[in-house]
Amino acid sequence: EAKSNGKNGYAMFEPSMRSRAVERLRLTNAFDGALEREEFYLEFQPQFALDGGRLEGFEALVRWHHPTLGALSPMRFIPLAEETGFIVPLGRWVLERACAAAAGWPATPEGALTMSVNLSPRQLIDPHLVADVAGALRRSGLAGEQLVIEITETSLVTDARRSVDALHKIKKMGVRVAVDDFGTGYSSLGQLRNFPIDILKIDKSFVDQLAGERTDGFGLVEAIIRLAHELDLSTVAEGIEDTAQRERLTQMGCWSGQGFLMSRPLSQRVAENVARRAASESDLAYLPAPEDG
Ligand code: C2E
Ligand code: MG
Ligand code: MG
Ligand code: MG
Repeated sequence: EAKSNGKNGYAMFEPSMRSRAVERLRLTNAFDGALEREEFYLEFQPQFALDGGRLEGFEALVRWHHPTLGALSPMRFIPLAEETGFIVPLGRWVLERACAAAAGWPATPEGALTMSVNLSPRQLIDPHLVADVAGALRRSGLAGEQLVIEITETSLVTDARRSVDALHKIKKMGVRVAVDDFGTGYSSLGQLRNFPIDILKIDKSFVDQLAGERTDGFGLVEAIIRLAHELDLSTVAEGIEDTAQRERLTQMGCWSGQGFLMSRPLSQRVAENVARRAASESDLAYLPAPEDG
C-alpha cells in the first residue's frame, strides 16, 4: 500500500498511511490469544414487527474489548479479521455464543424468538461451516428454525458454487438465510433468483431516504420491497431512526425492522430481560431498554 514517491522509485509512507499500518499490525498481533482471554463479547439488537411492535428476535453484534484500546467496533476489526483469516475462529465463537444465548430465552406468545448471526465471505467458503452450524445448534439446543444467518451479496458472488452448496445444507437444518445490506453489493437480479435465501435486509442507506420531506428516494425502497415479494422473500429494514421511516416502511409492505428508534444493541443481560418481558406481555411494543432492568 506504499505510495510510489517518484524520487529514485522508493516507496514512501505518508504519516497517515504509516499510522494505519501500525494500527493494523497492532490489531493483528492482538488477535493472537484474544478469544482465549475472553476479550470479545456480543451485543444484541432487537428486531420488531413494524406494525404492532411485537419483539421478533435479535441480531448478534460482536465487540472487542481490547486490552489497551478499549471497546472496539466491528467496523474497526472485522475487515482485518477477514483479511488475516482470524474471522474463521472468531465467527465460530460468535455463532456458538449467540446460539447459546438465544437457547436460554423464552418464546413470546407469538412464537420462538429468532437469533441472527452475521457471516463473513470467508466463513461462507470455509469447509467446516456446515459442521460448525450443526454443532452450535446441537450444543445449544437452539432449534434451526430460530437461527438466521446474514450474508452479504458480495460473498454470494465471490464463490457462488461453494457458497450456494453450503447454504443449501444449512437450510436443511431449518436455518434461514438473510442477505445483509441489500442493495449495496453487486448481485444481479438474475443471480438472486438462484440463491437459497429467505430474507432481504434493506440497507440503512435506503431507509435513510425515507426520513424528511424529500420523496425522491422512496421509489427505490418500494422497488426493493416489490422485488422481495416477487421472489417470495421477506424484508427486514435496518437503521430505522424515526417514526416517519417506520410508518413509510409499513405502508410500502415491509413488516420487520430494527433501529435506534426502537432499540440500540443491548448487553446480553438487558437483551435477556427484554426477551423475558416480551414473553410475559404479549402487547409489548417498542419497549425502551432499561439498562438497570
Ligand atoms: P450490520 O450487520 O449491517 O449491522 C447493523 C449495524 O448497524 C450495527 O453496527 C448496528 O449497531 C448499527 N445500527 C443498527 N440500528 C441503527 C440505527 O438506527 N442507526 C445507526 N446509525 N446504526 C444502526 P455495528 O454493531 O457497529 O456493526 C457493524 C457491522 O459489523 C455489521 O453491520 C456487520 O456487517 C459487522 N459485524 C458485526 N458483528 C459481526 C459478526 O459477529 N461477524 C461478522 N462477520 N460481522 C459482524
Ligand atoms: Mg447484519
Ligand atoms: Mg445490515
Ligand atoms: Mg448495514
